Amino acid sequence: MTTSQDAAPGKECPRCRRSNPAHAKFCLGCGGSFSLICVRCSTELPADASFCLECGQPIGEPANRHVSPETYTPKHLAEKILTSLLARCHHGLGKLYRGTGKPGEAREHLTTATRMYHEMDMRFWLEQSEAELHNLA
Ligand SMILES: [Zn+2]
Ligand SMILES: [Zn+2]
Repeated sequence: MTTSQDAAPGKECPRCRRSNPAHAKFCLGCGGSFSLICVRCSTELPADASFCLECGQPIGEPANRHVSPETYTPKHLAEKILTSLLARCHHGLGKLYRGTGKPGEAREHLTTATRMYHEMDMRFWLEQSEAELHNLA
């Protein structure tokens, strides 16, 4: 089980169980750090610590665990993304119809795109679609 390399007294990696020299700061086997830094008080802690010995901060807790997916992606934002995609779709179709000599269809799609951009205050794209409409006239 022991080899001449691993016989030296040292410490075992808590992640991959490889034995490392006592002074190792990072594991030879997996590169994992042997010390943890408390996110709250910056105290250096052993790699297997569950809580900070200075302030009691849980170790390895995601900082914003309490944030729910709903908070992260509000419903109105998701709808806005979908609407903007739809507007871009109408915009693209308008350009396509204009390119294939169908100004009626082109105008219809570009007008829809322009209205949606306007509703969402997407100024950059609003200017683009308005310019396309002008080119039709
Ligand atoms: Zn390791
Ligand atoms: Zn701490």
